[in-house]
Amino acid sequence: MKTQQAYLSDALAQVQARRRTNLAVYRAERAAAEDAEPRLVEIEREMTALGAELARTALAGKSEALAALRERLQALSTEKQALLAARHLVEPKADCALCGDTGYRRGALCDCVKSLARRQMYADLSKECPIGDCTFDNFDLSYYPDVTDEHGQNPRRRMTQILALCREYAETFAPGASANLLFIGKTGLGKTHLSLSIAARVLERGFGVVYGAAQNLLSPVSQEYFRFSGEDDRMRALLECDLLIIDDLGTELHSSFTNAVIYNLLNTRLLQKRPTILNTNLSLPELEAQYEPRVSSRLIGEYTLKRFLGADIRQRKALERGANN
Ligand SMILES: [Zn+2]
Repeated sequence: MKTQQAYLSDALAQVQARRRTNLAVYRAERAAAEDAEPRLVEIEREMTALGAELARTALAGKSEALAALRERLQALSTEKQALLAARHLVEPKADCALCGDTGYRRGALCDCVKSLARRQMYADLSKECPIGDCTFDNFDLSYYPDVTDEHGQNPRRRMTQILALCREYAETFAPGASANLLFIGKTGLGKTHLSLSIAARVLERGFGVVYGAAQNLLSPVSQEYFRFSGEDDRMRALLECDLLIIDDLGTELHSSFTNAVIYNLLNTRLLQKRPTILNTNLSLPELEAQYEPRVSSRLIGEYTLKRFLGADIRQRKALERGANN
């Protein structure tokens, strides 16, 4: 896993390499054009000579002659542009009109670099997770029964609220301002679907998101953490990304080590106001039993808890497919 900084510098290098390639192509084509059209070389020579004469005339203060020279220069320039335009050689090709593929605009990284970095991060993340398959629009509320139980709980109503909250969260996400969310509920209730939908939308809005299953994200970290004591890129990505989403918390390998890593991760992100979304099949008592108190107290105290309701959607979908076959 790469850090945001690494994605940005890779993207910048790619944009600038593109510029070098385009410039080299342009120079070669321009040289070929000058061979085929001697007038282009003549114009250059005349323009250089006229430029020198213009300077002398200006120094001598001959304003009438000066105007005539300027007019002549302008005519040559127009002729040159026309010859180049006929060969589509007015300027080097650039994919980004904003920065001309320099990668910088007004002293800051151009949007083309940021969006390239984002797309690459998106692609890398999608290798492990089906980001893109899950969206808010294909979250199907009809799978949640519209029935109120004796505790006054109605899965359809609850999930309608949670869907709206997730949408709002993704649309208004801001590092340093957004809440930490803890999705709790049994398997197959759409926790992963909504987490992925948030990841996709927040990425699309240009923020750095790291998404992964706890067992992939946390267990390898603990090994690297051991070796590099937190100085490695993977750990840094988890600590520094704008939004960290950990799927299936509780399924990672258990050791005092992972516990220390999780504590460090959650605590550092809380202190730096970097939002985190966790989802888990564990109940609150199970979380308390599985994690040391300093971890579980943070989960319960600092996270907005959302309890998913309903019957296993995956099972119901599988049953429906079975019935249709
Ligand atoms: Zn650009």
